[in-house]
This record gives sequence, structure tokens and C-alpha cells, in this order.
Amino acid sequence: MASLFEKKIETLWGVGEKRAKLFNRLGVFTVGELLRFYPRTYEDYTNPVDISSAQYGEYCCVRAVLESPVVTSRISGGRLISRGRIFDESGFMTITFFNNRVIDKMLKSGREYTFYGKVTTSRGEAEMVSPMFSDVETGHRIRPVYPATAGLSSVQIESAMSQAIKLLPQEVKEPIPDWILERYDIEGLNFAIRKIHFPDNADELKKARKRLVFEELLLLSLGLRRLKSIKREETSITIKKDYSSEFYSLLPFKPTDAQLKVTSECVNDMINSTSPMNRLIQGDVGSGKTAVAAALCYTVIKNGWQAAFMAPTEILAQQHYEALSKILDGAGVRTELLIGSVTAANKRKLLDRLAKGEIDLLIGTNAIISDGVEFKALGLAVTDEQHRFGVRQRAKLISKGNKPHTLVMSATPIPRTLALIVYGDLDISIIDEFPPGRQSVSTFLIGSKKRLSMYGFIKDHLDKGLQAYIICPTVEENELNIASANEYFEKMRSEEFKGYKVGLLHGKLKAKEKDAVMRDFVDGKIQLLVATTVVEVGVDVPNAAIMAVENAERFGFSQLHQLRGRVGRGKEKSYCFLISDAHGEETLKRLKTMCRTNNGFEIADMDLKLRGPGDFFGSRQHGLPEMHIADLADMDSLCLAQCAADEIERLPNGLDSIECRGLRAEILRLFSNVGSEGMN
Ligand code: ADP
Ligand code: MG
Repeated sequence: MASLFEKKIETLWGVGEKRAKLFNRLGVFTVGELLRFYPRTYEDYTNPVDISSAQYGEYCCVRAVLESPVVTSRISGGRLISRGRIFDESGFMTITFFNNRVIDKMLKSGREYTFYGKVTTSRGEAEMVSPMFSDVETGHRIRPVYPATAGLSSVQIESAMSQAIKLLPQEVKEPIPDWILERYDIEGLNFAIRKIHFPDNADELKKARKRLVFEELLLLSLGLRRLKSIKREETSITIKKDYSSEFYSLLPFKPTDAQLKVTSECVNDMINSTSPMNRLIQGDVGSGKTAVAAALCYTVIKNGWQAAFMAPTEILAQQHYEALSKILDGAGVRTELLIGSVTAANKRKLLDRLAKGEIDLLIGTNAIISDGVEFKALGLAVTDEQHRFGVRQRAKLISKGNKPHTLVMSATPIPRTLALIVYGDLDISIIDEFPPGRQSVSTFLIGSKKRLSMYGFIKDHLDKGLQAYIICPTVEENELNIASANEYFEKMRSEEFKGYKVGLLHGKLKAKEKDAVMRDFVDGKIQLLVATTVVEVGVDVPNAAIMAVENAERFGFSQLHQLRGRVGRGKEKSYCFLISDAHGEETLKRLKTMCRTNNGFEIADMDLKLRGPGDFFGSRQHGLPEMHIADLADMDSLCLAQCAADEIERLPNGLDSIECRGLRAEILRLFSNVGSEGMN
């Protein structure tokens, strides 16, 4: 099958240049990729139901005879409507088609067909609008439905697919060793790749699915382990002495036990090993990750190396810089800030000093990874809020040194089991404790009727010298009834909060403008900040005590949690208002859970159950290869694949055994887009 990954999709009959482009849009460039483009769902013609028992609102299949020829007429707007009536032993049903000029010739009265579609009702009788249909004898049994794109229908994909299947060799080569297939009761690829598209019955489909899911997760698991082992190559950056307690003694507060525990886990990585540290620190918003990272930078610097600290926004980089340089300057650590807005002349000087080793700690945005930034001796690379960066950016930062120790930090809590997979290439430390005195944020779900009294509540707090955020889901006006930051800001400034200092922050502002606004908020020159989710990441304004979120139903669970993490950082009691008039059961459940708990991990678990893993696993976020069929929330399959991966690793030569040649090739293909440099 490997060679089919070199065969362009255009070589298929009926796929011209234009259609090929549409396939490309779906990520399909070759015949091999087409075969790996799996159906989204299936139309099952194998289980026809009686018309009388067809459930309204459900997709189902009936086997019925057309009573009399389909009649076509014209309706308003010049559209054509064709109606027919079908029956089986149990009753009648209407079938309706729109703008189909040939339907009356395709369906013959008195003949039996299988119809598949969503059952609705029309004038008291069951109806299917635009059902799929086929001959009872020759028609499909289970028909694939592909994720289509504009201009390329599922049926067209299906037709290309049946050609692609014909190009498969008689026996498709099996990448997974036979004994694994046997032990885990898994079908071969030869069977699975055909049957996932065109199964004859539900059982075949189930088996094909099981195989492909297993394969994908096995490859993922093995691939991540391999990435991890590459990163375990020797490094010459030896850290001889732990200076973290010296650093902590410089701080105005005592580190928490959790901060100390995580610090020593990291220090151990660097001191007791010749391979670079490669660790993730997970800690809920406000758990104090920055201090830990700084303690590690300090240690590395005192051992004679440089450190880099990369943050996702200028504001955040600046804030880190201000907080840390204040402490470190006195300790003889030379700290500098590199962000886009540094002037060219200053930048040149800075880069010069950096290359000469006259800067110990460089804090900045992704400006740090641009070409021309050279360290003399980078010993530790820290990435803050890593979910905002791709794997490539992380890799680029690492490449600024010679196998430096690396640390990534994330406030996006991921259930532990999943973290092992997602961050398979990293060791994980968790800060599971908050600094003392941190109060949980009281959260309330309110309808828009209560908005005015909420404004009153906010004003009371502003009058006390505190600050507040109001978050809107969008920037600009829209037809839908969704709060836009622009409009909202105008209204607050000129009406509701007239006389107060109101600011506006959103992603469409220029970086400089954003910074100025944020700075004013940090400095207390703005009392109420109307913003979009740009405030989500990491900024620390302890004086902000209220966060209100408009159209709260439009935000993800974990996202709301991140937003809420912007308040409750100071001594004052803090509040979060989720404003929503949504009725949906699931949405309400989500919002109510937010009110009940402040625990990021619990919220992440809920999010996973309610919305699936998409949020955690956007490939951009984590640099994971895209899963085509496996669901990373499917713990049973994950465990199975993990077990198999363990067994393969226990082979004398592990994944490098000859029998794993096929697996290795597949892993390379799967990881080809996500920075698999050095993998083979
Ligand atoms: P995050 O984990 O979200 O990055 P930060 O590192 O920004 O959290 O810390 C949040 C706030 O808590 C900061 O103001 C920081 O100075 C403070 N902080 C961190 N550790 C402690 C501690 N051990 N005791 C008291 N305050 C702390
Ligand atoms: Mg932080």
C-alpha cells in the first residue's frame, strides 16, 4: 500500500485538477491518503424497519414499494418539488425531493426500493425529504458517508474510493506483527482498509474499525515514545549545584510544598542525568508556575549557563520580565526582554550581548526564536503557556542551544491518563496546591434580566478601588444576539458605567495598543476592562476581583476556567458571573458545574466527557499527529494500544526489530507533519 502514498489523487478517473484541489482541502493528496480518509458515518440499509415503526427525527431505512409515479410541480421561487408515496405491509410514507428533474424517471411505480433518510412528518403522515435510495437486489448494504466539503459530495468521494480500493494489491502488506494481531484479536489491514469503506454488515464494520483505531493509537503511542527517547540524547550541559533555595530566599513569599516538590523534580532531571530535562509542569491558573520556572533559570544561570523564557504575548512577557528582573537584578543575574516592539538599534545591542554571554536570562515572546537570535550557551529553555505554541516553535527554541534542558508550562489541566498520551514525549510534574490565602472565586450563573443588578454590584466594587473584567465572545457587531466587545464597550463607557474609566481590549488591536490598554489596567488607570478572550492567558492583576462573561454558553468549559483564573489572585473576595439565557440541557449542566467547582482538573474531566477531546488535542495545540479514526477519549482502546506498545518495547530490539519495519514506516508517516526531526 506504501506506493499508493506516492500516487497522486489526480490519477483516479473523474478526478481532474479542480476536484483534486477539493480533495487537497480535505488533506487528501494521494491515493494512499484517500484510503486513509475514513467515513464519518454510515447509512445502514441492512436493517430496514417497518414504516409504522419508523421514529420521527431519526435516520432510518425502510423497504417499500412506490405506489404511483412521482409527481413534480413548481413551487414559489421557481423551485421544483417532487412527491411520491411509498408503502410496506405496515403503512404509508411520503417521499419528497427538491429540484430533481430526473427523479420521476429514476423511481418506477410498483417497484420495491430501499430508502434511507431522516423521518419527519407531513400532514400527519411520515415523510422522508430527499432520501437516498437503491434497488433492493443490487443496492448498497452499508453505505459510507464521508465528511464532504463544499463542491465535493460524499457520493463523489465514495466513487473515488471504490476506484482506490481496486488499486490495492491483492494482499495489503501488514505493518503490525502477526503475534500482536492474534493476541489482541485484531483483523489485518487488508481486511480493515477495504471494509471500513464498504462493509457488508455491521460486524465487519465493527472489526475494521477496531483494527484501525488500534493501529492509530499504537502508532501514536510508539511514536511518542520514540520522540521521547530521541530527546534523551546526551547533553553536555551539566548542572552541578542546586541554587533553587537560594532563589526562593529572594522572594517575598514562602514557596508552597507543591512548588518545592516540582522544583526538586526538575533539578533532579538536570543534576543526576547526562540527558537533558524534558519536562512539563502542569498547574492550575495561579498555582505559581512562574516562580518555579524562575528558580530553575536561576539554578542554571548560577551554574554558568544562559536561560530563555518564552511567553505567548507581549504583555505576559513584559510582566514576567518586570517581576523577575526586580528580584534577579540584585542577585547579579542580567535579565533582558526581547519582544517585537524593541527598537532595531536596541535589538542589535541586545543580540550582541546575548551572543557574547553578557545576558543571563532572556525573557520574551516568540521574537526569541527568530533567526539571528543566538545564545552563547543556552542551558535551559522555558516555554510558558505551552498550549499557545506549536511543537515547531518549541523545537525552534530548543535549537537555540546544544541540547538544552527544556521546561514547558501549562495551565490547561488535562486528565492524568490523557496527559500520558498527549505529552508522551515529556515527563510531567503537577503543582497541585495554591499559595496560601487564595480564595476560590464565587461563581454565579445569571440570566440577562439580572444584568443591571450585576452592574450595580460591579460599581460597588469599583468604588472600593477594585477592578473588573467583562468578557464578550466577539469583537465586532453581528446579526446574532451575541455581545460584541466594540458595542459593549461603547455602551458601558457612555451609559452604564459613565464616569468610570472603561477600557477595551481585543485581538484586532495592534500589539502596541493592546499593550497600552493592558498596562493601563495593570496600573489601575482602567477600572473596568471590556475584552475578548485575549485576556485569557496568564496576566496577573491581583486587584481585579470580578469577571463577568457575556454569552457564557459560547465558551468552552476549560476556557471559562482559564478566564475565571484572571480573578481571585489577590486578597479580596472575588466573583465570576456567567451571563447566559441558554436553555440547552448540556450547556446548563456545563455552566452549573462551573459554579460548583474551581478545580481545573475536575472541569477538564467534565469537558472531556461533554465535548470530547477536541479541545485538548487540536493538533496545533499539542503537535500531535491528527487522529483519523481513533477517539482519544476512548480509554479502553487507549489501554489496549498502550499494552501492545509495551510488548513491542520489550522485544530484544524494541521497535527497531525487523518485524517492526512496517510499523516504523507508518510511524514516520503519521508523525511527518509534527516535527519528527531525528526520528527514524
Ligand atoms: P501561574 O501558575 O498561573 O503562572 P503565577 O506564577 O502567575 O501563576 O502566580 C500567581 C500569583 O501568585 C503571582 O502573583 C505570584 O507572585 C503569586 N505566588 C506564587 N507563588 C506564591 C507563594 N508560594 N506564595 C504566595 N504567592 C505566590
Ligand atoms: Mg503563568
